[in-house]
Amino acid sequence: MKKSGGLALDIDETLSRTNYFWVEYLQLKLGNPENLSIEEMEIKYKYASDPGYWQTDNGLNLMEEMRNDDVFQENLPLIENSNTVVQKINKILPIRAYITARPDSVLKGTEKWLEKHNFPKAKIITRPLEVRAEDGNKWKAKILENLYPEIIGIIDDNPGLIDCLSSDYKGTVFLYKGISEHMRKDIKIVPCKDWEHVWQTLSTASVY
Ligand SMILES: [Mg+2]
Repeated sequence: MKKSGGLALDIDETLSRTNYFWVEYLQLKLGNPENLSIEEMEIKYKYASDPGYWQTDNGLNLMEEMRNDDVFQENLPLIENSNTVVQKINKILPIRAYITARPDSVLKGTEKWLEKHNFPKAKIITRPLEVRAEDGNKWKAKILENLYPEIIGIIDDNPGLIDCLSSDYKGTVFLYKGISEHMRKDIKIVPCKDWEHVWQTLSTASVY
């Protein structure tokens, strides 16, 4: 096992059930014309912001407020066991950073949320104002490339991040909720279907 490097963690949909909370809140504020449960909406739409009937001026303004609201981040539900598994991982491979495409404006709320759920202390890297939200994966990929080998990999749910990494990247992406093998073979990708699987993978020294 490499002793010197540490690990980075994504937050949304890796540690927190952000999309679930968004759907719940938007249903409450904007209505639920299809009469779907939160789970049904999560299956039907990739993102809570996707349904056309919520993309009104009012809806879009509300989503922008949610994105930038510190208190909103503090109240996000936890993905079950993510904190306890991360605490275990931290003992064998230190968590060096949380890298999130959330904007700088919610750094404080994000910090409070991580503390509230006893996640290990580490620097939180948020997306600067000058980087557009749609360039979040590109931005994150660059950071990971620059931080290697201080950070030897990331646990992240977003396959879009993998698309943005250069083939020179030597680190490993542990793709949370990844269920099948990824197409890219030039960089190291380890799909992990749940947190228990992440733990099994990371506690087996040879994988990274
Ligand atoms: Mg994510």
